[in-house]
Amino acid sequence: MTFERRVTKQIHVGKVPVGGLSPISVQSMTITKTADVEGTLQQIYALAAAGCDIVRCTCNEAEAAEGLAQIVPRSPVPIIADIHHQYKMALAALEAGVHGLRLNPGNIRRPEHIKAVASEARDRKVPIRIGVNGGSLDPALYEKHGGLTAEAMVESALQEIAYFQEVDFDLIKISVKASNVPLMVEAYRQLSEVTDYPLHLGVTEAGPLPGGLLKATAGIGALLLEGIGDTIRYSLTADPVEEARAGRQLLEALGLRERKNVDLIACPSCGRAEIDVIEVANRAQLAFADKKIPLQIAVMGCVVNGPGEAREADLGIAAGNKRGHLFVKGRNVAVVPESEMVEALVDWATYINEHGVDAAIARVDTALAEREATKDRNALLQEKGDDANHANEKIVEIRKTISGN
Ligand code: SF4
Repeated sequence: MTFERRVTKQIHVGKVPVGGLSPISVQSMTITKTADVEGTLQQIYALAAAGCDIVRCTCNEAEAAEGLAQIVPRSPVPIIADIHHQYKMALAALEAGVHGLRLNPGNIRRPEHIKAVASEARDRKVPIRIGVNGGSLDPALYEKHGGLTAEAMVESALQEIAYFQEVDFDLIKISVKASNVPLMVEAYRQLSEVTDYPLHLGVTEAGPLPGGLLKATAGIGALLLEGIGDTIRYSLTADPVEEARAGRQLLEALGLRERKNVDLIACPSCGRAEIDVIEVANRAQLAFADKKIPLQIAVMGCVVNGPGEAREADLGIAAGNKRGHLFVKGRNVAVVPESEMVEALVDWATYINEHGVDAAIARVDTALAEREATKDRNALLQEKGDDANHANEKIVEIRKTISGN
């Protein structure tokens, strides 16, 4: 299924296109001192490995700008300098060779300063994000709108655009972030009606895991499903690598970026489960964490329903009678001891990734695997019946309770 994406103007942050019909990019921000060149680069490399396309670093002091001059040429991804309060830091970051700037219109307010930065960025063909933030909105707009509203945030962005247009600068992207999810969603909706510059989505100060992840996913996901948004950032109180992973996984889950890693699915477990599904799924998640295998893999608690329920998965394993039954696209292919389930999944996934599903199936006797699965399935049915969760008994009791007999 696809949904219609709103087409925006395209800009480039270094080599990464943003907007138009280019893939939605993932951003994150380093939490090191930018003056610590080696430490910052280490974090940038970790972010890039986790699927981050663009990294932002603070440029809050002269030493940070000097650090950027050393970081930018060694970074595997484009670098954006984050600027607050001091417009001169923006000029210094441009001098350092950054691929983009983020300006906060709430705390750089003098028109001549804004225009000086935009003119320099125009001459160097470097884009600027107008990064409106609910927490640091221009007090004049706060007062005018009677508080923090979507309209106030949109007006702040439009004011900044007007300054940029005065100096013929249009390499613009915009964000209107707030920590309140419905407010942020409304602000982006309104913004997308009045501008076609690319939009950078985020829920600001979303907080620690898991609440932060939920808030950011709710806000960013809702907008992406409406076709709004060209680049995203999860603002979590966590290792920034978690932000990059979350961003990447959200885009993959929505079908907006090609899958790079395993999509692990698992049944929720029930009275029929033959293994500790949570434990095995966690072990599988760890085993596949660093593997670039773009397959959907299922961990299912029982062989009675597992292979059927997960028949769309490329590969899966279901437990039965102390054995693991491997299946490929719903077809039983092999039986392994229960203790080797995760290792077997990794072996099969690696093989399928390299040689394809047909080659993987061709190397085994599927009829034998199916016979073994049927044997274990029947044994389980005999032991637990076809109502392992005792639902039918409960239904009888419920009916009795309601009818008063
Ligand atoms: S029936 Fe089997 S596969 Fe389905 S939830 Fe229960 S244990 Fe998991």
